[in-house]
Amino acid sequence: MKFVTRFAPSPTGHLHLGHAFSAMTAWRAAREEGGRFLLRIEDIDRTRCKPELETAILEDLDWLGITHDGDVRRQSDHFPEYAAALDRLRADGLVYRCFKTRREIMEEIERAPHHPGEGPEGVIYAGPDEEMDPIEEAARLDAGDPYAWRLSLNACRKRLGADWGGLSFTEEGEGPNGETGTIPIRPDLLGDVILARKDVGTSYHMAVVHDDALQGVTHVIRGQDLYHATHLHRLLIHLLGLPVPVWRHHGLIAGPDGKRFAKRDKSATLKAMRERGMTRKDVLTQLGFRD
Ligand code: GLU
Repeated sequence: MKFVTRFAPSPTGHLHLGHAFSAMTAWRAAREEGGRFLLRIEDIDRTRCKPELETAILEDLDWLGITHDGDVRRQSDHFPEYAAALDRLRADGLVYRCFKTRREIMEEIERAPHHPGEGPEGVIYAGPDEEMDPIEEAARLDAGDPYAWRLSLNACRKRLGADWGGLSFTEEGEGPNGETGTIPIRPDLLGDVILARKDVGTSYHMAVVHDDALQGVTHVIRGQDLYHATHLHRLLIHLLGLPVPVWRHHGLIAGPDGKRFAKRDKSATLKAMRERGMTRKDVLTQLGFRD
């Protein structure tokens, strides 16, 4: 069987032990299956991503002995492709412009009599009660107001009809609550998610779904922090008519305080560990891998 997986870091900070675990898990899986391991730099956030951090990622992976197949794909080189994917959803009437600020959205949610409350990714915005008046929309566009493109779950539900309840994804790993096997999708847990903004042509969700398909990824191996996003990713894959991979989410590595590593934990970066004299083998042992 063809097996293609990937590691897809964002150069917004140095890699830490959690990233090393993710990269090593995916790399080892590819080696065991005689498959391919790809490296993708997810740098769509032009304000937070830095080229020197991309260089540092390559150095860290090299230090860990992780080699990738083929060229590195850098998302910032491909904005027009993500825009084209958004255009397809626009043409199908599945996205809408949302001019509301975060605060306005929160107020609207609080006012709604049956608002869905909190989902695993935070407060759920289930969309506006009615579509925006086209004259008002044109006026706001003319005024140059900022907006986001949101996926309309109502429109998706109508579009899919009987298929809406039938979509599922295959989890070969485990979600944060032990979810595994065939998982019926619940995009309503995330609500009307932002897929692009006026000034940023794509979100992580659009880009990741587009790229995984384009690069022929058969196995998406990543941390459980992205498990719930999979409900949305599976829906986008269906809407865009893309091939469906399987997912293997893995547990998150925790620090000595029991909390998961964040990019701000400077001491847990691979760079800091290397500078403290730790070896690749020490890192592997700490992560529970045998050399
Ligand atoms: N770029 C994402 C991150 O650094 C990972 C994306 C993915 O594996 O799907 O958290």
